[in-house]
Amino acid sequence: MLRRTLRPCLATALLSGLNLAPLQMALAEDTPPRPHWALADLYPSVTAWQQTLDRTRDDIDRLTRFKGTLSQSPEALASALDAIGRIEKTTARLSVYAGLDADEDLNSSKKRERAAQTTRLQARLNSVTGYVTPELAAMTPDELARWAKLPALSDYRYFLTRLAERAPHILSADTESALAAMAPVTSTENSYALLANADIPWPAITIDGVSRTLDPSGYAHWRKVDERDAREQVFDTFWATFHQYADTFGSLLDHDVTAHVTSARLHHYDSALSAALDSNDIPVAVYDQLVHSANAHLDTLQRYLRLRQRLLGVTTLHYYDIYPPLIQKAPEFTLDQARQLTMEATRPLGEHYQALLDKALHANWTSPYPSKGKRSGAYMNGAAYDVHPYVLMNFNGRFGDVSTYAHEWGHGVHSMLATEAQPWATADYSIFTAEVASTVNEMLLSDHMMATATTPENKLFYIGQALESLRATFFRQTQFAEFEREIHDVVEQGGSLSGQRLSRMYGELLHKYYGVDKGVMEIKPAYNIEWAYVPHFYYNFYVYQYATSVTAARALADRLASGDPAARADYLTLLKRGGADSGYQLIRDAGVDLAEPAPYEALMRYMNGLIDQANTLLDQHPELLERS
Ligand SMILES: [Zn+2]
Repeated sequence: MLRRTLRPCLATALLSGLNLAPLQMALAEDTPPRPHWALADLYPSVTAWQQTLDRTRDDIDRLTRFKGTLSQSPEALASALDAIGRIEKTTARLSVYAGLDADEDLNSSKKRERAAQTTRLQARLNSVTGYVTPELAAMTPDELARWAKLPALSDYRYFLTRLAERAPHILSADTESALAAMAPVTSTENSYALLANADIPWPAITIDGVSRTLDPSGYAHWRKVDERDAREQVFDTFWATFHQYADTFGSLLDHDVTAHVTSARLHHYDSALSAALDSNDIPVAVYDQLVHSANAHLDTLQRYLRLRQRLLGVTTLHYYDIYPPLIQKAPEFTLDQARQLTMEATRPLGEHYQALLDKALHANWTSPYPSKGKRSGAYMNGAAYDVHPYVLMNFNGRFGDVSTYAHEWGHGVHSMLATEAQPWATADYSIFTAEVASTVNEMLLSDHMMATATTPENKLFYIGQALESLRATFFRQTQFAEFEREIHDVVEQGGSLSGQRLSRMYGELLHKYYGVDKGVMEIKPAYNIEWAYVPHFYYNFYVYQYATSVTAARALADRLASGDPAARADYLTLLKRGGADSGYQLIRDAGVDLAEPAPYEALMRYMNGLIDQANTLLDQHPELLERS
């Protein structure tokens, strides 16, 4: 219950297409010293951290004293949940300290061991408080719903309401605990990750006279090269390697999907999809509307592909043509510029938001640059409730890094606002709203860059970035979501998933989305194995949230840009409400209903507007079509 997890940000890894990013950045030896996080804001020393950890371990063990008391009275429940919450808060703060410290220096076994200590502490807390849900679930749903309305339990209103709603799907305490104990052996995610990242002997090809290894990060890098024959060779070689393991990949995914389906049935859900969405309180209508809307607007994706074909100057567009940038000459930025642009772009969010952001960006709350032994990628960690958020990133001066900075601090200010307004129990927000807060900032930045671009080439660069981001987050993720729904359907109807069957199903969707039958693109059958490269299919209906986030974020950014004073208030209320209600409901209260077609249609109008602008720029400035 009420468990707070660290929030690694997946968006950047998603856009770069990496599977699992390599843990460390390669870096020149003579790199100057870099600013470090203000970890002393959490604990003044490692000794203070260790003392708190030892004390918390004892505090956790004493939480057994509430066992059997929860349903005695609302007051008894409130005091138990308050006591558990206080320990959760300390456990989270201990984890943040050890986790951040280890992430800046992954080569240090001492720091890794301290991080592992907090993982064990968290596991102990979960295990000791394992009695909470079954004890409450043993009450009648009516009584739970009645208690949820009492002032003494106001911090736990949403938690108790949800428990009452989920009561028909919660099994006996013995059964739930047996299933929880079996959970680690029913998931094949770890076996998948080992095969897809470590065990496969990766091939090498020669690019520019140099031998290059095509492991997942090599593939993500070399598929963007401008030399077209090289891109084709990258695709042919990489996917042929995956294809050799199609049967094993198929068996792993079949096993994982079967586990989702079985668990859903045991818990009396009519499908794995409704079970997965119910665990986050999201209506299935949102998922269905997303897939329906994307399918109704595939012509928009295909218009973008035709624009890409025009810019690349190729007679036939191939699947290996989707990654090279539309404009080769990319602008570069310093971290100071990133800070200034983020401040300028978020002006529509008002004074209070800007004051929090300004404070965050000028404090040592960001670990900005790559360094030897530092974790790659980017994330925001806002779990230290009484302190402040921290952001890790690897700034390299590209526009994507500026966008990541605005994105991560979108998460950061979301946490600051939620912490100001919510008690510990409801400050943490779901992924469903988290990625909206960050993507709104990305959208505002993108709009700001387009509005202030000084040359046609510069403007086309930002339009190209925005369009590619929509392909990758809206269409590609919805295509994944549709695939996920289909493969669960197969198993629910008694079928099984072989590698061959998965490739056929994936290939059909790929053809539909990319307009192969309409002559928009050609895709070699060998590339249908791409499903085996996507770890998200093991996350049990997760990826659709990237597409709903970008849809909601665009609608909210449009409302903010309209200057409607209610728009800013609604948006800030959404952020301040943290996890006080379902993510779907919070976004709906801010004026965007993701179960209706309207926000998806607005997103498609925006995308078509960008395509129009790009085509007009190319008509007016044909020199932009000359690639060096
Ligand atoms: Zn994010």
